[in-house]
Parts: sequence; C-alpha cells; structure tokens
Amino acid sequence: MRDTLLGLDIGGTKTELCLVRLSAGAQPDTHEVLGSQRFPTEPNSGLDSFLKRLSHQIDRLLEEKGLGRANVRGTGIGVPGALHPRTGVLSQSSIPFLSGLTLKEVFETALPDLGPSTLENDANCFALAEARLGAGAEWAGRNGIRQEDLCMLGVTLGTGVGGGIIMNGRLIRGKRGGAGEIGHSTLFPSGRPCYCRKLGCAEQYLSGGGLEQSYFARTSGKERLSAREIFRRLDEANPFALATVESYREDLTTFLSNVSNILDPHVIVLGGGLSTQDRLYAGLEERLKETCFLTENPPSILKHRIGDSAGMIGAALLAHETAHHSEDA
Ligand SMILES: [Zn+2]
Repeated sequence: MRDTLLGLDIGGTKTELCLVRLSAGAQPDTHEVLGSQRFPTEPNSGLDSFLKRLSHQIDRLLEEKGLGRANVRGTGIGVPGALHPRTGVLSQSSIPFLSGLTLKEVFETALPDLGPSTLENDANCFALAEARLGAGAEWAGRNGIRQEDLCMLGVTLGTGVGGGIIMNGRLIRGKRGGAGEIGHSTLFPSGRPCYCRKLGCAEQYLSGGGLEQSYFARTSGKERLSAREIFRRLDEANPFALATVESYREDLTTFLSNVSNILDPHVIVLGGGLSTQDRLYAGLEERLKETCFLTENPPSILKHRIGDSAGMIGAALLAHETAHHSEDA
C-alpha cells in the first residue's frame, strides 16, 4: 500500500531522510516517523556520487522497515537556496552541484518509483512543519486560532539565518522563491561583510558563526570559542560571554521587530542550533513590545517542537499535500 512518505533534508554538511505516516486530510494533525537516517552530503563530490549514495540510503531505510519503493506515495525534498516557483530552478544554494538545476526532474529520474517529488526551500519546510504539526499548531490550538488563519514566521538560527513565512495558513514563496530570506536583511549598514556581497546582513550577527565572531571581537581577538561554549560560560558569569549574549539578544530583538512590523505574525518559532538555548527567550516578548510599531500583544516567541527533524518532516508534509491535491483533482 502506498501510504508512506519519504522526507529529505539536504544540507551543506549532512543529508537526512525519514519515512513518515501522516493522518488523513489535506492538513494532517498527527505524524509518525517510522525511521530516519543521515549521511554526509560531501558537497565537493558532485551530483552523480550524491544521487548514488542517496538512492542506496533510501533503499536501506525502506528495507530496515520492511518496506519497498512501492510503499512510497510521494517524496518531499528540502534544499538550501531559492526555488523558482514557476521554473523549479534552484539558485543561491550553498550546495554548488544542485544550483541552476531543475531538481524535480533530476530527482525523479535518478530516484524512480518513489512517487512524485516536491521540492521546497529548507527553512520553508521547517516553518511548515512547525505550523502544521509543531509549536505553531500547538499555539494555534491553545488560542483558538484556526490553521487557515494562522500567521507564523519560522526563523532558523544556525549555521545560517533563514526564514519561512506562513500567512493565513499558506506558505509564501514570492516571485522568485526568495520570500523569507530574512537572514540577508541589513542589520548594520556598514557592518560585517557577507558572502552575498552586502554589508551587515543579519546572518553575520545572528548565526552561530556570527555569535562566535562577536565573542572573538569582544576578547580583542584573544579567544575563539564555539557558540555552545559561549553559552556554557554564562553559567560561570564570564563577563565576555555575558556581554556577547546580551548584545546578541539586542540584535535579535531589532531583527524580530523589523520582520514583525512587516508580517505581524501570531507567532515566531525559532529553530536551528542556537534556538535550543533557553537564555535567548527570557524577556524577548517584552522587548518586542517596546520595539515593534504595535505595542500591545506582541507576537509570541516560541522554541521549536519538532526541532532537528522539522526540515524533512515539512518536506514530507508538502509531498502529502501535493499528493492529496492531485488525488482531489
Ligand atoms: Zn548576506
């Protein structure tokens, strides 16, 4: 029976895959992960090598669960970069061998018999999973907001800074698939150079690397620490760590109030490595109240619920919605 979905999250370092079952309906409210796996993407190894390894991993995972390709109803694939909504061509991806390709064609040819494939930007997949099945869905249920009315912004604070916008229950993609690229909005006009050729992008301050660079600068270039270690040193009241994280929280407030003024979401769900640090959240909503244009009832800031696997589960969700709509049609 074709009742299983395959979700993929292809990242610059690792690729994750999972088999998921979702409850019936266009917008399911439960999900069951049957099994998952990960393997290194090796972005320098080229497309053919990657597809071969991916195909092998998929069959291994299916076999482990006593399933075969005939059980897969559809495949959802999350990728870094902007996917053009009309042409399906990927641009600005951190994985060079995927850039410039029409990926749906590439994957359906290389990975046959896995149902239709649906591609989406990875941060959009994260936002969708959290809106439908995670922190956003839970918040909406608690506050009597229907899924089709929910406005949610998903923000990933990790190696990079990404965003996924859900307005009135729908994912917003934009003209070129570039909606939600909030990591490259300017935080400091004469700030740090970014690989996107601009200065002072939010990502240069709010990513894990950005935080590490801030700490390094604060110690006048004497000490380089990982983001995790910087947070750990807060427990020892290390003055450099305290000052670095405080200024990070100020930057995060400015950033979130800018996007809130544009989107006015019900909720902002944070994901990515840094979002697991509880210290980021303390008093953040109060600060937003002071910095947003609308001062009453600011957006709720929530930690992700699905977390690490949200990318691949969101991709599987999209595959589900695509299959559901094509069966309806
Ligand atoms: Zn940038």
